[in-house]
Amino acid sequence: MGGTFDPIHHGHLVAASEVQSVFGLDEVIFVPTGRPWQKSDRRISDPEHRYLMTVVATAANPVFTVSRVDVDRPGATYTIDTLRDLSQLHPDADLFFITGADALQSILTWKDTQEIFELAHFVGVTRPEHELETDGLPADRVTLIEVPAMAISSTDLRSRVAGGAPVWYLVPDGVVQYINKYALYTGGDGVDREH
Ligand code: ATP
Ligand code: MG
Repeated sequence: MGGTFDPIHHGHLVAASEVQSVFGLDEVIFVPTGRPWQKSDRRISDPEHRYLMTVVATAANPVFTVSRVDVDRPGATYTIDTLRDLSQLHPDADLFFITGADALQSILTWKDTQEIFELAHFVGVTRPEHELETDGLPADRVTLIEVPAMAISSTDLRSRVAGGAPVWYLVPDGVVQYINKYALYTGGDGVDREH
């Protein structure tokens, strides 16, 4: 499951858990992006903060792990590179790429779409406000799954923190504490201003 995870929240975790259960996946690997090319217009937190929040959020689940492939690769993050790296690290695995329905809709604008579908089966999870839409996507390589509605987004969480509103129960407790400890999303130290 790829994402910016700035911060990771219960929407991500519920989606991953649901897809893991529906497909009987052995493991869900969370892959925080390095520098997402689609989000180059906004400041995102330091990759190490996003990586560590993802580790904190997933630590208790034995089938959830976190990969540094995108965080450690220089330059912009493209899903094709993520899939190439993961298939090299797990040569015998059947890869499923879990993504939000919103991201799936823009998939045809991604780099190397053809090879992307050869490397993984795509699972699009619906968010509350998104319609299921698969026009133009290869039906045999894409499955859409409805997850219990969770109107949580990282964008909303960042503005909540900035405005002093609570984020308890929207993200795991350890992530609330991590955000407070490093003063993320307050205009403080968490932001990587080079991006
Ligand atoms: P932002 O608001 O900054 O875009 P986000 O909440 O969408 O953040 P991302 O890190 O961009 O979080 O999300 C990673 C993946 O998880 C994306 O494919 C996204 O569509 C999906 N996702 C995000 N929030 C939810 C949710 N509440 N339910 C299901 N999927 C979600
Ligand atoms: Mg998003």
